[in-house]
Amino acid sequence: MLQVQRSSRKAVARCVLRSSRRGYASGSEPYDAVIIGGGPGGYVAAIKSAQLGLRTACIEKRGSLGGTCLNVGCIPSKSLLNNSHLFHQAQHDFAKRGIDVSEVKVNLGQMMKAKEQSVTGLTKGIETLFKQNKVDYIKGTASFVSPTRIAVQLNEGGSTEVEAKNVVIATGSEVAPFPGGAIQIDEEQIVSSTGALALQKVPEKMVVIGGGVIGLELGSVWSRLGAEVTVVEFLGGIGGAGIDEEIAKQFQRILQKQGIKFQLNTKVLGAEKKDGKVYIKTEAAKGGKEATLEADVVLVSVGRRPVTEGLNLDKIGVEVDQKGRIVIDDQFNTTVQGVKCIGDVTFGPMLAHKAEEEGIAAAEYIKAGHGHVNYNAIPSVVYTYPEVAWVGKTEQELKAAGVQYKVGKFPFAANSRAKTNLDTEGQVKFLTEKETDRILGVHIIGPNAGEMIGEAVLAIEYGASSEDVARTTHAHPTLSEAFKEAAMAAYQKPIHF
Ligand SMILES: Cc1cc2nc3c(=O)[nH]c(=O)nc-3n(C[C@H](O)[C@H](O)[C@H](O)COP(=O)(O)OP(=O)(O)OC[C@H]3O[C@@H](n4cnc5c(N)ncnc54)[C@H](O)[C@@H]3O)c2cc1C
Repeated sequence: MLQVQRSSRKAVARCVLRSSRRGYASGSEPYDAVIIGGGPGGYVAAIKSAQLGLRTACIEKRGSLGGTCLNVGCIPSKSLLNNSHLFHQAQHDFAKRGIDVSEVKVNLGQMMKAKEQSVTGLTKGIETLFKQNKVDYIKGTASFVSPTRIAVQLNEGGSTEVEAKNVVIATGSEVAPFPGGAIQIDEEQIVSSTGALALQKVPEKMVVIGGGVIGLELGSVWSRLGAEVTVVEFLGGIGGAGIDEEIAKQFQRILQKQGIKFQLNTKVLGAEKKDGKVYIKTEAAKGGKEATLEADVVLVSVGRRPVTEGLNLDKIGVEVDQKGRIVIDDQFNTTVQGVKCIGDVTFGPMLAHKAEEEGIAAAEYIKAGHGHVNYNAIPSVVYTYPEVAWVGKTEQELKAAGVQYKVGKFPFAANSRAKTNLDTEGQVKFLTEKETDRILGVHIIGPNAGEMIGEAVLAIEYGASSEDVARTTHAHPTLSEAFKEAAMAAYQKPIHF
């Protein structure tokens, strides 16, 4: 049964027509699964659910699929990171390789177009996957009427309701405002990550508030394109939660060499716009010692928060915790039967691949009553140059837990391919259990770390020891030999260092 609540007759007719054409659920025929949110968690849950034979709909309000990740996150940032790196290399690195180029210039408009092309190609690709898998894509904003009934304000006007045997909430996250409202984002001079992905010109001076992954990635982009970038971080180190402290220090040194300045242990108090500039007031994190930084553009990257507004969670009894995250059990069940939740809007790292894994597992739970996500084997990657990637435990975590461990390291400076490529910064670091040699964590800073970490994830997933990796043939000459040699270093000794 379709309930159209808009009064205009035209709208009613349009809505009924569209709804019936798309085959939205009727009261007698509920969907097996309705997914709210079409980000990496939601769209993957929807496709998997349909692949498993469940009649599935996905409701997304943005007007395009792919969520934060494809529209204003992973993909546009990686496009700018890749292309700004090529520009920087052409300017600063080509000559020593025997490639002389004259007059390398940034064409920011074209760089943004390339970014948009990647985004559109990928978001449209998901629409095609929905069609191929027979997922009904409902463009609108969802809210619960009951645990099994969802009202949708359609993007094109009008509304509808859908009935569902199972609902998966995958509404993701949004930029967290600056605490206490002391800085207001205008997305032009004071920007969030979204604005920083779409600046119309390269700022002379940029201040990045927050030295986590997003701040470092976007700070790198604009630094490479010519901005003088200062990162202000409250904590004593960069890279955000989960990074190994030794790697974080090395990372900071490398970024400093690239020209990025850091003010650690520094608290931002507020920002004021005046005469086309922004003045940022800071003080030492422990108090005292006030200072002012001047910038043309300020990027506020102090974290993200879950999106639950307007869902009517109170009405149906879905609980959220103090941070606004939807409370779930280990099978993605919320506090209301038949309503599951995955991705950024619930616990765990805010990462696209984590949301995707949960999407698959949630669909499998709905269909078969079991699913699997190994939270010990979720990799993190910072896509700067060099990249930083890790999985499993850090050294500081093992120390705090009193675990007896061994460390095996191998520098890229001793790897033949890295030397051949004149690209030798960084290292691979293995952490293994002393008694059993089981791999507990792997941390990489260096060229292609984000691809290489896949091997570490697989090793941890299969409970491998460093000897297992050390005795596995790796092609020569490849960067991955540094991975093998770090495993050898943890197990016995490396050959080339
Ligand atoms: C700048 C930036 C760079 C990033 N880079 C990376 C990276 O390199 N790698 C990585 O793994 N992660 C990265 N992330 C994080 C990643 O984008 C998120 O972890 C991921 O998108 C979470 O997926 P999700 O499906 O849980 O939520 P989202 O992607 O946020 O999707 C949720 C969707 O739900 C929709 N929605 C919300 N409420 C409703 C409603 N009531 N009705 C209908 N629709 C609704 C929203 O419009 C949204 O499209 C980055 C994030 C940012 C901001």
